[in-house]
Amino acid sequence: MCKQCQTNPVYEFTNKRKVCKTCFIRWFQKKFLYTIRKFGMIDREDKIGFKNKRGFRDAVLNDLLRLYSEKGSVEIVKIRSTSSHLLIASNRRSARFSTKELLSNKNYADDKLISKDIISSSNNYRAKRDYFPTKIAVSSTADTEADEIIHILIKGNADKLKHGPVEKIESRIVIKPLYLFLDKEVLLYAKLRKLKFKIKNEKKDKISLFVNDLEKKHPEVKQSVISSYLELFG
Ligand SMILES: [Zn+2]
Repeated sequence: MCKQCQTNPVYEFTNKRKVCKTCFIRWFQKKFLYTIRKFGMIDREDKIGFKNKRGFRDAVLNDLLRLYSEKGSVEIVKIRSTSSHLLIASNRRSARFSTKELLSNKNYADDKLISKDIISSSNNYRAKRDYFPTKIAVSSTADTEADEIIHILIKGNADKLKHGPVEKIESRIVIKPLYLFLDKEVLLYAKLRKLKFKIKNEKKDKISLFVNDLEKKHPEVKQSVISSYLELFG
C-alpha cells in the first residue's frame, strides 16, 4: 500500500481494499509466484509448453511465464498444439526445420558429426524430443474453472469433477498458474501492462449468465466455488 493507492486506485478487492497501478501489478506477480509454489506447479529444469492463442488470458500467462523463465532455470517452449500426438515444440531445433535449415543453423553446422547425409528422420526426431515440454501451462482462471465446476454440478456429473490447479491428462501434466485469479483481474493486468491480445467473443449459455449475474450481488462467488473445490479435492 502506498499514497497512490488512496489517491489513484485502479482496482478494489472484494474486501474494499484499493490499489494503484504499481501495487496492483506487484500484487498480481506475487500471487502468480505464490500459486506456482502453493500447488508445486514448476520444478527446476522443467520445460513448460505453452500455446498462445492470443486471448487476454494467454497474453497475461505469456508475460508472467516470460518473467518467470528470466529469473530461473525454467524454459518456456512454444507449442503448436496441446494434444498428445501433435505436441511438437516449435522453437529453435524443432522438427519444422528442414534439413537445409538445420545445416544452416550455426550449432548444427559446427558439429562435424552432422552432415547432410546423416540427418535422418531419427535424428530429426531426437531434436524434436529434446524440446518436448515436461509440462503444459494453460490459462484457465477462477472464472473459467468455476464455470466448468458449476456446469458439471448442475448437470449432475459430479464424477467428472477432476479439475484442479494441476491436472494429469493423458499422462501429461497440465498446470494452471492463473487458477486463483478472476478474469477481471487478468484483463486489468493485460491492460495495465499494455499487452497485446485479441478480443474474442466467448459464447455464454444460461448457466454462465446466471453465475455472472449472481456475482453482481455476491462478488466472491467464483473464488468460493474454487476454494470449496480445493477443500474437497485439493
Ligand atoms: Zn500503491
